Amino acid sequence: MSDYKLLIGGRLVDGDASMDVINPASEEVLAACPRGSERQMNEAVAAAKEAFKSWRKVPMAERRAMVMKLADAVEARVEEFGRLLTQEQGKPLAESTAEIAYTAAFLRYLASLDLENKLIEDNENRRVEMRRKPLGVVGCIIPWNFPVLIVAFKAPVALLAGNTIVIKPAPTTPLTTLRLGELIADIFPAGVVNIVTDQNDLGGVLTTHPDVAKISFTGSTETGKKVMASAASSIKRITLELGGNDAAIVLGDVDPKTVAPGIFGGATMNAGQVCLAIKRVYAHESIYDELCDELAKLADAAVVDDGLKQGAQIGPLQNKMQYEKVKGFLEDARVNGTIIAGGVVEDRPGYFIRPTIVRDVSDGTMIVDEEQFGPILPVIKFSDVDDALERANASPWGLGGSVWSTDRDKAYDIACEVDSGTVWINKHLDFGPNIPFGGAKQSGIGVEFAEEGLYEFTQIQVINEAR
Ligand code: NAD
Repeated sequence: MSDYKLLIGGRLVDGDASMDVINPASEEVLAACPRGSERQMNEAVAAAKEAFKSWRKVPMAERRAMVMKLADAVEARVEEFGRLLTQEQGKPLAESTAEIAYTAAFLRYLASLDLENKLIEDNENRRVEMRRKPLGVVGCIIPWNFPVLIVAFKAPVALLAGNTIVIKPAPTTPLTTLRLGELIADIFPAGVVNIVTDQNDLGGVLTTHPDVAKISFTGSTETGKKVMASAASSIKRITLELGGNDAAIVLGDVDPKTVAPGIFGGATMNAGQVCLAIKRVYAHESIYDELCDELAKLADAAVVDDGLKQGAQIGPLQNKMQYEKVKGFLEDARVNGTIIAGGVVEDRPGYFIRPTIVRDVSDGTMIVDEEQFGPILPVIKFSDVDDALERANASPWGLGGSVWSTDRDKAYDIACEVDSGTVWINKHLDFGPNIPFGGAKQSGIGVEFAEEGLYEFTQIQVINEAR
């Protein structure tokens, strides 16, 4: 029997079935994990619905205090949770412990926000007040790339606003979230937070459930479309944080040696499995060769290994399906470009792919146009920045992007023209709980973080009073 438990109605329970979780660095079974059933998912929604009746009336200060207590409990387990996260997700230990530390920081910051009523008019004719009420039961659907941190993007704001939640982790990375559930069980009233695992088969139960008022989903654009379609059945609120194909536009005035580490890091963090990773580089022809060489040097020097090994910079791909998918991108890169670093699958157990730099490649190929979600970076040459901008914006996605230049004003003007939710200048992948985050175009709907993110878990109510 697994020592991991689901959390349903305040009780830590076994799953109706069991499933194995694989360590992607060894392809060996890491742990047996409870697998929830449709019955258990329905039970979790019913528990959340019941708990909502009283949770919505708990003073906000008390709800806040509970989230803060959870932040403290997570912070006390950074090492323990970080190690488990590396074992199930694959990322290097330093990245895992950072993810757990950020989880505590996000919980704490987001729980510190406030929801205040707004007096719109108060005169001899009428008094008009806008309030923000909780929605009810919220389904939080989580992907496998940041399985713990993304829970902390959603849970604190949902709970602070007075909603109750059902969390559904991704099937290949449920373990650290179930450990989080043990902490939650000791802090929150029964049914306020529920966690049910699946094998990619219970998301639809949540998204079609008549008693679920909102779905906060992070995952691929393809699944996001399904979520949006099924949410229509009961006009559920949705926040969708989906895929991306972030472009870095590198102008001719930069020193390639100076910018290469930032670009390489922005592309290969978590083995490239980051929604906001740099997934294509547009480099000006005057620095193209040198930038390609610098990126190749960094790729050649990168230590690819089991995330638990000291010095590992890049771990394995998270799961077999993603590994096979990324191998398909390697094949495309071989056909449509010139691979100048990496390009090989490591000959050992585990889903390891060396960081790969591809040059002499252009738009209209799979490696440039699609989200590779792996450590492969295509570098495309441009001569006219307006043309680069147009090509960067031609993507159906619009999550992030970056402009690299020593001319701040020029970079700023270009940044304003990029069709994405976030644009960085001379960096990539910098975000925080106080900075609203969301995707343009097919990268999503709605925002997370900051007050704007909190509002998405509320329903506006206007009280309009005669005088
Ligand atoms: P995925 O879409 O395959 O799965 C995400 C979650 O959805 C999992 O929990 C999965 O079990 C669940 N799911 C599967 N089918 C479902 C259905 N029919 N209805 C409801 N839920 C369903 O995504 P993934 O492969 O786990 O994650 C990688 C993707 O997520 C990438 O495209 C990446 O860019 C994106 N992502 C986006 C952000 C962001 O904030 N924008 C952050 C992280 C990852």
